Amino acid sequence: MQECGITCNIALKNRYFVPMNAITILNKYFGFENFRLDQQEIIDEVISGRDCLVLMPTGGGKSVCYQIPALIFKGTTIIISPLIALMKDQVDALRQNGINAAFLNSSMDINSQNQLLVDLKNGVIKLLYIAPERLAVNGFIDLLKTINVTLFAIDEAHCISHWGHDFRPDYLLLSRLKNNFPNVPVIALTATADNVTRKDIVQKLNLSAPKVFISSFNRSNIRYLIEGKEDHFNRILDFLSAHKDESGIIYCLSRSNTEELTSKLKDKGINALSYHAGLDSKTRSLRQEQFKKDEVQIMVATIAFGMGIDKPNVRFVIHTCIPKNIESYYQETGRAGRDGLPSQALLFYSVADLIKLKSFVSVEGNVEQTKIGISKLNKMADFCSSYLCRRKYLLNYFDELYNAPCGNCDICLGKKVENRFDGTIIAQMALSAVMRLQQKYGVGYVINFLKGSESQKIYEHHRLLPTFGKGREHSADEWRLYFRQMMDNGYLQQHGEYSILKITEKGKDVLYNNGIVMFVEAEKKKVAKTERRKKYAPSGERGNYIQELFDELKKLRLTIAQQENVPPYIIFNDNTLIELSTYLPLKIEDLTHISGFGSVKIAKYGKEFLSNVNEFCSKNNNTTRMGEKVSLNSSVKSIDKSISTSDTKMKSFELFSEGVPIHEIAKQRRLTEGTVTDHLLHFIMTGKLNVLKFVSREKLDVITKSIGEHGDQNLSTLKESLGSIYSYSEIKAVINYLKRNADYFIKG
Ligand code: ADP
Ligand code: ZN
Repeated sequence: MQECGITCNIALKNRYFVPMNAITILNKYFGFENFRLDQQEIIDEVISGRDCLVLMPTGGGKSVCYQIPALIFKGTTIIISPLIALMKDQVDALRQNGINAAFLNSSMDINSQNQLLVDLKNGVIKLLYIAPERLAVNGFIDLLKTINVTLFAIDEAHCISHWGHDFRPDYLLLSRLKNNFPNVPVIALTATADNVTRKDIVQKLNLSAPKVFISSFNRSNIRYLIEGKEDHFNRILDFLSAHKDESGIIYCLSRSNTEELTSKLKDKGINALSYHAGLDSKTRSLRQEQFKKDEVQIMVATIAFGMGIDKPNVRFVIHTCIPKNIESYYQETGRAGRDGLPSQALLFYSVADLIKLKSFVSVEGNVEQTKIGISKLNKMADFCSSYLCRRKYLLNYFDELYNAPCGNCDICLGKKVENRFDGTIIAQMALSAVMRLQQKYGVGYVINFLKGSESQKIYEHHRLLPTFGKGREHSADEWRLYFRQMMDNGYLQQHGEYSILKITEKGKDVLYNNGIVMFVEAEKKKVAKTERRKKYAPSGERGNYIQELFDELKKLRLTIAQQENVPPYIIFNDNTLIELSTYLPLKIEDLTHISGFGSVKIAKYGKEFLSNVNEFCSKNNNTTRMGEKVSLNSSVKSIDKSISTSDTKMKSFELFSEGVPIHEIAKQRRLTEGTVTDHLLHFIMTGKLNVLKFVSREKLDVITKSIGEHGDQNLSTLKESLGSIYSYSEIKAVINYLKRNADYFIKG
């Protein structure tokens, strides 16, 4: 019997099938050691029969959240997914792991369809993928009723909402599901949904009291780099030479741009293909396949390329032109690094492109739409020219709090401490100019004023003011840079249609008190080639793997993939190959500790990969490093290996319910008090534990109010506002208590 660790709905108990818990399934079928983000909690909720809405970034690992419940439940899980190409990949990947999955689509011949029906009725198929329009096919819903459907998973759930960026009318058919299958839980998943869209998904799917999970949208493995566009072709070449044999997408603005760039790259001996909507559909799908199968490494494309590409090992995305808004930038760069390995997003920015795009986003005859388009484009431009941590800017744009520096964007990396200087005097000069001009002018005017410009545009009476001309020693470009930074860092704000500068409280602090302002020096235009190469080098920690072995294993993977006619990543992720070439497993048992080797893949491919590693090691006198890997895994896991995360939480909860104090539980269980507290907090969220056992009624009210004001993303802000008599555990307890109520998120 599966223990889900939370109150299981009794009626659901007979649905369980596999006498294994979630973590065992994750190890055995998927070959992964630990759950990521909220995966465990989501799975717990789904198998307890609760509807869930899951917001997780691309590459976060949404699939496992319904695939594991599908294996735990007795019947069949139906997955609704918008793209046939993706369905096939998912099914192939599941089958590779020994899981019986299938998809139903209109291109199947009648015999296969009939066989599938028989299998479904016999309950052999654990996961069935369908497109939403299938629900409109006469008799299909009735057919579903004749099989034991135990879960519906709605992938790309934002497609149901007009508010989402990718509305698909067919998704509206999904609102029928709850009427027809009121007792079957639904899990809706998406990587993009703002508040309105979220609410819409819940309403349109008729989810009942859903538990909403929102992960951080930070893609920490992606390094963001933004540069001026001058000389960008040479920089692309530098970049590509630092990323040989890696897979990447280069986005261009127009079809002709893609063709031109592709041929220039080919002239340099680089294997690239172009992709755009002007190609016929056969060529397009052929090229897409070639890219997926690692037959071509670089795709030079318009934004027509990307939807339907789930390739996890895209190592970089280059934009040769800015996208038209931040949403697109996040989505397009997000195609890099789905496998969680270090990846890069490089964007070339130019004012000329910005002007070009202004006409693109204008919608003729629709003033309102045009205004929105332009304002979003301006935000994008602002992002490019900003001196704020790119990650902070992006996440704040999506209403997520984030404390810079991230350490993995050009700002945090490149503009190092030595480039910073105390700019308080400069800032005071700028602020007093704004003040003297009565906060009625924009940046351009204020700069001219500071420079003591002779231009007619400066009013005569302004020339008499004491600050006039006080900033001559700095060039206009330097001033622009300083103003930019003062806006980014909240000393100045732009208001209204004419972007008039106003001084903020923080700015006043600099002007009237002792506030200090640090500036980043203007960048030296010409960056030496070697320096550039360094900057473009693959980022982040990939550890100490042996490149030569990795390349060999990649070849082996490609050969197997070609034999089986699937993309290489369906056989193994890059991560698996990296682990193999880091830890050098020599025996079949070792493979159970390598990510991606589930039992089926060990049986199928274990020997071949091992013999490559063995041969390499004996040739080069390498010894295995599996010892490091095993101790690493066990330190990540809880001390008692035999119990899963949900069971260990349960144990703490039971002791607590028996009246054992937290410090005593910690002692007994050889855990820290913090861990025990976290276990208990989980049960506040599931409703099993009364929040008042953790905080007094008075504190509950005060903390709730503070969360109302500050949001729940930044604990330290909350703690600061509440003062020292409120502990972090109390604050977390109240957040979890509030999370029980889905409306809390939807109001967000
Ligand atoms: P999403 O649908 O959220 O974009 P996927 O479900 O495709 O993400 O997962 C992204 C990648 O992460 C896949 O390669 C998947 O196999 C891997 N993955 C998912 N969960 C885990 C885990 N717990 N440990 C290791 N890898 C995981
Ligand atoms: Zn940063």
